[in-house]
Order: sequence, then structure tokens, then C-alpha cells
Amino acid sequence: MNSINHQHLTEEVNRYLQELFPINRSLTGEGNRQTLDILSKIVPLTITDYPSGKQVFDWTIPEEWVMRDGWIKDSSGQKVIDFKKNNLQVVGYSSPINTTLTYDELVPHLHYHQSLPEAIPYHTSYYHRNWGFCLSENDFKKFFQPGENYQVYIDAEFNKGSLTIGEILKKGTSKKEYIISTYFCHPSLANDNLSGTILTALLARELLKRKTTYSYRFIFAPETIGAITYCATHQRQLKNTLGGLLISCVAGQGNYGYKETFIGSHPIDRAIKLAFRDLALPFKHYPFEPQGSDERQYSSPGFRIPIASIHKSKYHEFPEYHTSLDNLDYIKAEYLVKTLEIYLRVIDTIDNNTTFTSRNPHCEPQLGRRGLYPTTGLTTNNTLDQAKDHELNAIRNILFFADRKHSLIDIAERSGIPVDYLLAAANTLETNSLIKRIV
Ligand code: ZN
Repeated sequence: MNSINHQHLTEEVNRYLQELFPINRSLTGEGNRQTLDILSKIVPLTITDYPSGKQVFDWTIPEEWVMRDGWIKDSSGQKVIDFKKNNLQVVGYSSPINTTLTYDELVPHLHYHQSLPEAIPYHTSYYHRNWGFCLSENDFKKFFQPGENYQVYIDAEFNKGSLTIGEILKKGTSKKEYIISTYFCHPSLANDNLSGTILTALLARELLKRKTTYSYRFIFAPETIGAITYCATHQRQLKNTLGGLLISCVAGQGNYGYKETFIGSHPIDRAIKLAFRDLALPFKHYPFEPQGSDERQYSSPGFRIPIASIHKSKYHEFPEYHTSLDNLDYIKAEYLVKTLEIYLRVIDTIDNNTTFTSRNPHCEPQLGRRGLYPTTGLTTNNTLDQAKDHELNAIRNILFFADRKHSLIDIAERSGIPVDYLLAAANTLETNSLIKRIV
């Protein structure tokens, strides 16, 4: 079904993880443009800047945050917090400040994690001008004492810049589309969502090599405001969309997960369940709920595009989520490549989810005369090995259900036969002029 070279890909993923992880990303800014430029080495993205102040539905594209430096020094002049050592240490979209504060004045601006004392939490203040620092609880206890004064410095500014989105349209033979969206606004966090960003670029590159029925629109946008911006500026293009995938959190140490579309039984939902079934991978099923990621925008009443996600350690489901512990030690390139394989199976399934019509509908055709009845593969006890068994069963099922009523997914669910065997059988039967696909 898909011939990806795991070892080569794993090495490549590791290189991109190292290169992209340290970059300071946000809703806007130079780090975002740098990230899209690097992803363009994987797959050529069309990069568009949308100006600050532009109205996008009920929202306004914010000013660009230019973040240069940020630290806190104690009374001895020692830096106890340093943005240059970890970009999670300054709250995203912090306003500039340069002053000396007492402990009591400073503490409301310090954030640490309630249950992970060694973790630096990830905080932003996108739409309410404020400033703040994030640190581990251990460092808070070690460096901050009542009665002390602290020098506080954030060198940042806001300007009329832009919000940057990357996209690529892989055209199929049909104008009907699926969208595949990911977000890249998080600074140095690995599973959420650097893993998803890299997987999406690799998926686009893989699909570009293939002939597909449907077109696939890949969107790389900052979460929420980026997806809203894309929707607001592509209303006409999104009218042809049958469904989509939101790619996020795909390489963590936890379980596989699947968040269903708001429909729950869309071909995408069914294709995902079949992929897990065929790979014999256990997974956790997350029912649809209106919170989550950018499916909130694509599936909103004005668009109603059904969107599902496959995860490995879903957001909110692992303790390291949105902390400095969601780092390159938490994820594995091997996991990312495996999740990529699942996504590829899902796309293979939905892209080939046609019905079939028999060219020989009256009673069964004679398979032996066409060389389609396996003569090899018979073992000594006269049973077929499993692969041969699947092959013959796949042929029989496709022939039987070639009535224009049963789709590939229907047949796969009903027969229990892996989708890749059914696809191979359909190809063979088409080559032998026994069936025709009805797209
Ligand atoms: Zn997040």
C-alpha cells in the first residue's frame, strides 16, 4: 500500500526536529516565517502574509510580536530567568518592560506548574496586553524570596506586521477536496505540535508523488486565528471540501488516539478505524466535542467540514502537555513515522473509496481460466496460507459486492479483509475487465 522507507525517514525526521525545535514561534513573527521556510525544504509551500489589522470574520489579525530578549535578575545581578536559554520562559505576546519590582509586585506575573515541580509551563496572552514569566516550581522556590527586589526586563515590541500561512494544493483527478491542516504556533514544544507540523509536510510530499482521485489542500497556520484567517480568505475554495484531517500531537509516548468528526460515521471516521484494525494497533476513541483544535473553525456551522484526528499522546491527555517536558526526549521520530503510515493508509482508503460494477454480473466468473484462482500457496495440509486466503477472499468479496451499492469501505468493514488486499483485488479485477470503478 505505501512504500515508505522507515529508517531513512526516521533519520530525516530527527534532523528536522533538531532544526525546528529551538525556534521561537507564536501567532505571528519571524520564527513562524523561518519555520515555514525550513518546512519548504520538505515540500514546496506557498507562503502568504496576511496583514495585521485585517478583519477575518469576527476576529482581527493581531499586531506582530517581535520578541528579542527577556530575563529577571535577582539583587545580586544573577539571571534567574532567561528567555535565551528557554523561550517558554516569557509569556507569549508579553509587552515590553524594564523596571525593578518587589517580590509582591512580581509574583502575580510568575507562572509555574501546580503538579510538575521541574516543568516550565507554556503560557500566552494573545488578546489581552500583559507580561509575564514562566518557570519551574523548583526555581520559583529557589530564586524568589519575600522582601527581595528583582530587575525585570522584556525587550519586545508590537508592530504592523503580518500573520503567515503556508499551503500546498495537491491536485487529483476530481475537483472535490479534502483539507489537511496543522498548526505551528508553539515555541519549543515537541509533541504539541512540532511533531504534527513535520508529519503534515512529509504527508504532503508523499501524496505529491501519487496519482490521487481527490485533491488535498494542506494548510500550515497558527492555531485558531490562522485557521480563521484561512477560512475567511478561502470561502469559495472550501466549498468543494468533503472532509479533512487535523494533524496534531502524533509522536508522544502515550497511546494512539482518534478524535472523531462531528458526524462520527463519515468515511474518514470509518477509514481511520479500518487503518487501526488492519495494523492491529489498539487506540483510544475520543468522541467529538466542540473544543479541541482547528476543527472548531473548519466544522463551524458556516463550513461544516467533518474533521478527524489521529494522535499519539493527544493534547490534554499527557501530563507533560504545554510544559517544557514536552521536549525532544518525550517524542520519538519512530513514533512519528508510524503515525504517518496510519495517516497514509487512511488517505489511501478514502481516496479509493469507490463503488464497483461487475462486467460479468450473472453468476460468478470463472477465476481459474483467468489465472486468478491461486494454484500455488497450497500447503501440505491443503489449506491456503493467510496471505493467499486474504487474496482470494478479497477477489470474491469485490466481485460479489460489485453492484454499485457497496463502497470499498463497506466491503472492508463487512468482510474483515484488510483494505490493502481489497485494493489489490480491485486492481486485478479491473485489469481483467471483470469490474469497473464508479467514482
Ligand atoms: Zn497547544
